[in-house]
Amino acid sequence: MAAQKVEDIFVDIVERVKTLDPVNNRAWFDKLTVLRLSGGTLEIGCPDEASVQYLRDNCKNSFTRAAQQLTGYLVGVDFGVPNGQKPHNATLTLGVEPKLHPDYTFDNFVVGPCNRLAHASCVAVSQSPGSTYNPLFIYGSSGLGKTHLLQAVCYELNKKINNVVIQFLSCENFVNKFITAIEQGNLQGFQSQFRTVDALVIDDVQFLSEREQSQEEFFHTFNALYNNSKQIILSADGPPGQIPALEERLISRFSWGLVTRIDAPSYETRVAIVQKKAHLRGLKISEEIAEYIGQKVHANIRELEGALTTVYAVATTTKQEITLQLAQKALEGQVELLSRNISITDIISVVTKHFNVRLADLQSKKRSQSITEPRQICMCLARELTKHSLEEIGGHLGGRDHTTVMHACDKIGKAKKSDRKMKALLSELTKQITGPAQT
Ligand code: ADP
Ligand code: MG
Repeated sequence: MAAQKVEDIFVDIVERVKTLDPVNNRAWFDKLTVLRLSGGTLEIGCPDEASVQYLRDNCKNSFTRAAQQLTGYLVGVDFGVPNGQKPHNATLTLGVEPKLHPDYTFDNFVVGPCNRLAHASCVAVSQSPGSTYNPLFIYGSSGLGKTHLLQAVCYELNKKINNVVIQFLSCENFVNKFITAIEQGNLQGFQSQFRTVDALVIDDVQFLSEREQSQEEFFHTFNALYNNSKQIILSADGPPGQIPALEERLISRFSWGLVTRIDAPSYETRVAIVQKKAHLRGLKISEEIAEYIGQKVHANIRELEGALTTVYAVATTTKQEITLQLAQKALEGQVELLSRNISITDIISVVTKHFNVRLADLQSKKRSQSITEPRQICMCLARELTKHSLEEIGGHLGGRDHTTVMHACDKIGKAKKSDRKMKALLSELTKQITGPAQT
């Protein structure tokens, strides 16, 4: 292990992350590289700043665990964009709030009759900001893709225009910043922050409702930008005229450019979205399953995605292929039992029963094959099915240290690949462990 180069096992680290945390897995993980290993920190190279942020927010633990498991050292993990390839993205370093989500690009947006116009107008605006539709106002119910489209425009502008300055934020954030500026007597700072941008993108402007002072400030911000041909993009849950207690002059300004609506997606669009989201996560699902999910969930796209996550999570925790039956079971609420938290005790109880050994034997110093094998299987399954660290697993099995557990996982893992009987045994035990709880 000591002579091994981290570059050589990096693919395995990424593979391990996929099993440790399947839900946050993304297909672009395959593009990650090793930047350096120094001072006990493994620095991982990412395609752009948005993916750095995504990994820091969602995947730091799983990468750290995978790196520790596979190197055998207590390394830390961090993420960065390789020097020299850093994209010139002013937005992402401007402290954009909320941060742009790396999934929310035009490429990942499925166009259908429900959102065709909104999508086309966003594309047009990203091609010539400040001139085509200004302001662009997108409205629709929750979970239909408004935030996704807004962020996609930010990405595009950012890619196209060197040093473009974009403010993308939720309206709530805008209002809060305004209030803080007043409290701190720094209205000028606030105004220069928002009135000097190339594009102001504000999500969920219905939040202005009944906030008179913020509406007043927003009105002046709007005018300053509009008069300088700077792009304004807004989203809301309803058309301008239906936002309660919104000043007439704002309603009128919001309608100066283009007001466009997003509707709930049709069945075909839903199926295409499921396929797109599955692809994004590096997941293969058949058309039949995508159609099933599209039929089953029609409220909004966030729920559609939730359904896919559920199916995926059940498939990974139970180590089963995603079949139509599994998807049906998962979505018909039979999943709680399957995806419940698995403890080391659950594992030990199934394994000891199968091999007809006692826990005390597993914890003892005995090294006969009849005891070593079940002990190593317990360690390996605990590694796969629980979130416990190597030390904790060793602790449960007679106070063994983490290298022993690692060795066990290695050995059983190899046996699983070369020995069909071992593979069948592990899958049978896993099925028993993850099946409905025995009470
Ligand atoms: P809203 O802001 O309208 O509440 P979001 O933009 O947050 O909705 O979308 C909710 C989820 O649905 C996000 O994960 C988004 O990526 C996804 N989504 C919405 N519309 C589409 C689409 N047309 N194609 C792909 N994903 C979509
Ligand atoms: Mg939104």
